[in-house]
Parts: sequence; structure tokens; C-alpha cells
Amino acid sequence: MIAIPSPLRLRLDRTALAANWRWLAAQSGTAACGAAIKADGYGLGARAVMQHLVAAGCRDFFVASWAEAAALMPLAEGVSLSVLHGVGEADMVAARTLPARPVLGSLQQVARWRAAGEGRPCDVMVDTGMSRLGLRIDEALGGALDGLAIETLLSHLASADEESAQNAQQLAAFREVRGRIPARRYSFANSAGICLGRDYAFDLTRPGLALYGGTPRPEVAGQIRQVVYPEARVLQVRSVRVGETVGYGATWTASRGSRIAVANMGYADGYLRCHAGSGTATWQSHRLPLAGRVSMDLVAFDATDAGAIDEGDWLTLDYDLPETAARCGLSQYELLTGLGGRWAREWVD
Ligand SMILES: *Cc1c(COP(=O)(O)O)cnc(C)c1O
Repeated sequence: MIAIPSPLRLRLDRTALAANWRWLAAQSGTAACGAAIKADGYGLGARAVMQHLVAAGCRDFFVASWAEAAALMPLAEGVSLSVLHGVGEADMVAARTLPARPVLGSLQQVARWRAAGEGRPCDVMVDTGMSRLGLRIDEALGGALDGLAIETLLSHLASADEESAQNAQQLAAFREVRGRIPARRYSFANSAGICLGRDYAFDLTRPGLALYGGTPRPEVAGQIRQVVYPEARVLQVRSVRVGETVGYGATWTASRGSRIAVANMGYADGYLRCHAGSGTATWQSHRLPLAGRVSMDLVAFDATDAGAIDEGDWLTLDYDLPETAARCGLSQYELLTGLGGRWAREWVD
């Protein structure tokens, strides 16, 4: 096998990831702080994220599906893994075999788990206002859960990143549920929920976004460190004369003699066309504006003011999550999870 170096890479800051987790753990007060690592750790690579967070002290992890759970085996000693989508019929073999717990989210799933006669602990999701996954409160209180060994009872906030009366309503509903359904632990808050205050933390919090550099609520801006730095290689630097255009649709016209750096990355890598007009990259502290549209595998940056930039150099995309989301219209979540499979993921301290 020949080693082929990747022309695009995500530089991932392990120290920032750990610092974000420690900050969220401190905000969680006496509650344990877990980590949502679904969607391959929000695009960073779930296995590496788990390993770094275990080293930081995290013990409770959440993925969406059994395939995601299987990919994380074997688990380190003392690590707990929950599967948020619960168990469908097709998941039962995995659910019986793997050392992970389903988060049962409907009466049907509860019945399926009971019928399997496992007796092993499970988690349960109760819906307090999301109407997505989870037993309705009346279903949860109607006897369906009697005798079940519930390790963690969960609910999920629908509007935690907003100023919404729904937050307090869901909190009151979850408290009511907690008083009536026995479980070893209760878990309610995602990243934004943690920022709503200690009342929301209960026994175990489940941040995702903020671990990876997202700012879940404006009042915590500055507390979360950027983790993901996308970097792309310059394929060539070319000269463009006044009046000449760059890219599909000829949407960018040189207003002066310009130098264009063409980089090895495009919308197929998750750098979507909505960055046109506002996206920038940095090369040796020069800020290079995007020139024209984003292509599938290529982007062009106006490097006229970036002196000696040359073929083979690396550009760092400006990818501060709240800032980038505000200017391009994608959510911070989409900015992370859209980063595709062609990026080499390289962790640095
Ligand atoms: C994804 C998810 C989380 C993490 O949410 P963030 O907003 O990324 O912090 C927590 N709980 C559940 C049930 C989730 O699906």
C-alpha cells in the first residue's frame, strides 16, 4: 500500500474538546456530565472523541443507532453507552449482544424489550413536549414501566436554545415524572439546557454541540473553545486580469489584477454553496475572501493581498461555529455534521 496524503484535513483540538467538557461538567454542578457522540461524534469521529473524553473523565455516552454503538466496541472499563433510538425489531440481536442500553421510546419498544426477557437495565425516554421520541407522560404513568430496571430516565428539551416558556413547562413536567417513575438516574439537559441553570441538570447531562465548539446560547459566548479547524491545500495560484471572472456562473469579476488561490475542497465536502459571498479562509494571518461560487471539489479564494502564497500551502477555513452559522444560514450542527468523508481527521494537542 502506498500512503496517499489527504489534500484536506480537519485539525481537531483535543485540549479544547477536553476543556469544553470540563466547563460543561462544572456548569452541570453535582450532575455527571456525559456526551452525545451520535453522527460520528458530530463529524469529528466518534471513536476518537470518546477516547479523548474518557481520558478527561467522561463516562456516559449517547449514540443514535446500534450500528453507531457497534462501531465503538469494545468499551473502556466503566463506560456506559446508550442508544437514543431504542430498539426496533431488527435491532434485537445487536441489543442482546452489545454492552449498550436502549433508550426505550415508545410502548411498543417497552413491550419488545420486556418480551426479550433480558432483565438487564435499560433507559427510557419520556416526552415532555418534543413529540419526537419518548413515551407520552400518561403512557409512562399508566403502568407500562412497572418493574422495569430503568438505569436512566430521560427527556429532551425542544427550545432550550431560545427564550421560551416551554423550557419551564418541560422542567415542571419532568419533575413530575421523576417523582413518580423510579430510575437510578434522571437526565434532561443537552448543551443549551445546561446553560439554563442547575435546575435543569438532574443527575446526568448530555451535551453534544458545545463539546465540539458550538455556542448553544448567546450568554455563554466566549466560554466555549473552537475544536474543528478545516484546512485545505492550495492546488494552484493563478493570475486573473481586470474584468475576468472566476467560477461557475461568472459571479465574481476581478476589479483589479488579482491572484486566485484554488483550494482542494468543495460542497461535496460539506462546504456548501451558501458560503459564497461571505466565506473566508486564513493563510499566515491574511484573510482571503471566497471568490465566486463553491464547486463540488474546488473553491477559489482571492489571495491578491496574500503575498507569497503558493501551490501546496494549506489554507484554514474560517469556521468559528456561531459566527459562521450567523453568516451562511446553516445551523452550527449542520456545519459540523456535514463535513464529509474526504477530510483526514487529525487530532492535535
Ligand atoms: C443530540 C442529543 C443531545 C445533545 O444535544 P446538543 O444540543 O447537541 O447538546 C442530547 N440529548 C438527546 C436526546 C439528543 O438527541
